[in-house]
Order: sequence, then structure tokens, then C-alpha cells
Amino acid sequence: MRTSFLPFSPPLIGEEEIEEVIDCLRSDWITTGPKTKRFEQSFAEYVGAPAALAVSSGTDAMLVGLAAMGIGSGDEVITTTMTFCSTVHVIEQVGARPVLVDVEPDTLNVDPRRVEEAVSSRTRAILPVHLYGHPCDMDALDDIAVRHGLAILEDAAHALPASYKNRRIGSGATAAAFSFYATKNLTTGEGGMLTGDPELVRKARLWSLHGLSGDAYNRYNRGGSWAYEVLVPGFKCNMSDIQAAIGLQQLRKLDRFQAHRRRIVERYRALLSGCDAVQLPTERPDVVSGWNLFPLRLNLGLLSIDRDGFIGELKKRNIGSSVHFIPVHVHPYYRDKYGFGPRDFPIAYDEYLRIVTVPLSARIQEEDVADVAGAVREICAEFRR
Ligand SMILES: *Cc1c(COP(=O)(O)O)cnc(C)c1O
Repeated sequence: MRTSFLPFSPPLIGEEEIEEVIDCLRSDWITTGPKTKRFEQSFAEYVGAPAALAVSSGTDAMLVGLAAMGIGSGDEVITTTMTFCSTVHVIEQVGARPVLVDVEPDTLNVDPRRVEEAVSSRTRAILPVHLYGHPCDMDALDDIAVRHGLAILEDAAHALPASYKNRRIGSGATAAAFSFYATKNLTTGEGGMLTGDPELVRKARLWSLHGLSGDAYNRYNRGGSWAYEVLVPGFKCNMSDIQAAIGLQQLRKLDRFQAHRRRIVERYRALLSGCDAVQLPTERPDVVSGWNLFPLRLNLGLLSIDRDGFIGELKKRNIGSSVHFIPVHVHPYYRDKYGFGPRDFPIAYDEYLRIVTVPLSARIQEEDVADVAGAVREICAEFRR
């Protein structure tokens, strides 16, 4: 048994990030400036995006994306209940109505057939989430969007980098929102990026900085002007150069981080294969997953404890774990506002009851994976029904 606690997903920050932050702090330019510009350019190049906007979180990337699309009061946006709450909050925050739908049983991504059924005359956009890093069935969603004249905004918080049919998530003109929160594949502490069509990104930039006209952006620069115009009642969610400094160095390491994550996933597979009380996540042949999270699903029929008990047993063995996610429709705000019962989205709810997300990060070592797999096997044996 482990003597030290294995944290769920610690960040991996090196001397390079620290040096780049110090360089920023010594430069006299600590808010949005040259490092943010470079980070946007490098990021766009990395994913193959036509344009990119750095903001203060993945949530804000979605918020300014929806605002830039002109989505608001009277509009509906279709999304999944199996996500982090902020995917749905942003729809409420622009004044639109979120329309939740259930998920596919294998990937737990939004089910395109249910998206189609949910389209109404008020629908303006689809907000799919590439859950755990596994891309959604984008061909099916694109087809629905084209036939009904809808926009798409991808929640790509877990999907950096990930590919669907050999195309990187974030490449092309479809809007995608990435998160650089501490547990994501690339972190800036807090941060996010919106990619997509240059005209949409230009509008989103306005929304991210008080709605100030473009030339206001450089108003403290030599050659800049004091004058500005307010064009929309914008938010305040620009990225600072301190965050971008971390991001620039993380981006250079991202391919190495991903190769490590993939090795860890393969390790889990090897060590847990044949353990019939747990179901492992899969990867469809036409995608490359971002593997931000590694959710186990317990076959509760074979166990005498429930999911919460299982997490308690992992903790007893010094292993951190979590649940991704509590479906949005179960939370009191959404449950009460829209009158949802837990089984209104039966797949999401029943899967939620058996999910345990185990440690996966760029930091975790193969010995740690062996500890986790050993603990999982031990618990399954001890609590076999
Ligand atoms: C992390 C996350 C977000 C929010 O990202 P922040 O940068 O924390 O705002 C949104 N959606 C999903 C699915 C996430 O996991």
C-alpha cells in the first residue's frame, strides 16, 4: 500500500515556465501584450486554427464565443447534460435557453440523434463537449447544423490535442473553446482560448475587453492613442502576459505531455484488463483522444459497494479520484428551474452513478499507475458480490 497520497491531477510546471514568467515580470508589461499575442499565434499554429483569442478561462472562451455569435434572449442552444456546469451556465449568462440532451452510452458524448430531436424554431447553436478528450461525432453534428442553419461551438476543454478523422479539434472555421485550468492538458493556472473563423474571433475579442474598439487595445503603447470607442457592453476576460508566459512554455512541451498520457492510458489498460468489475474507456478508430481524464465505470452488479464506497476505499489506500461529471440536470439550479428528474436523461444519470475518474496527468509515474490498478483490483476482489 502507498505511503504517500497520490493526487488526482497535479500540474507539471518546469524551470522554463518559471523563467518565462520572471521575464514577463521584469519586462514592465504584465497584462495582455506581446506574450499573449505570441501565445495566440503559436496556439493557432499548433491546432491549425485560422484565428485564436486568449482569455482568462475556458468558460470565458465559450461566453465570448456565444456573445460574438449574437446568441441571446429568445434563443436556444442544445448541449449535453454530461458536462461541467459552466458549459451550460454560459448559455444562461447570455440570456438564452439551454436545451439539455442525453449521451451515447459508449463515449458519453452528446448523442447526435437526440440533438436532432431537440432542434426547434428557436435553436441557434449546438454546444458539443468532447468529453474526457474523446471527440464527438462531428460529421453527424455538422450535418444537423447545416440542415437547420445552426452554429457550432465546441467545448474543447479536454480536447487539446485531439483529432477527429485526422483533423485537429480547433482547426477549421468551427468555433472551439479550450481551457487551461490547472488540471487540463496544458495549463496557465487559469486561462482559455477561443479558436475559429477570424471574423467571429474578432468579435469575440471585442466582447472579451469591455467592448472597446480595436485601437484601444494598445492605448498605452508609444504610437497608440488615448481614444477609444465602446461598441458593445463587453466582459473583462482578457488573458494576461503572466498567464501567456506559462502557456508559451507549456505548448512547447505539449507533445511530450501527450505521449506520456497515452503511455499511462496503455498501462492502465494492460494492468486492468480482465478485471470484469470495471469497464475501461475506449477510443473510436476514427479519432485520437486528448485523454484529459480516465474514467472507470464500475459494473455495480458485480460489487457489494456503490461508487461512493469505492472512492472511499481508494482514499483509504492513499489514491485520489473524482467523478466527471455530476450531470447538469441534477444540480438544484437546473433541476428546479426546468423541473428535471434524475432519469429525464437516463443514460447520463445511470452512468454518473458508476463513474470513478482515476489519476491521469503528465506527472504521474508508471509505479503510481501500478498502485492505482492494484488498489482497484483489491477493492473489486474484497467487495465482490
Ligand atoms: C474545465 C472545463 C470547463 C471550464 O474551464 P475553465 O477554464 O475552468 O473555465 C468547461 N467545460 C469542461 C468540460 C471542463 O472540463
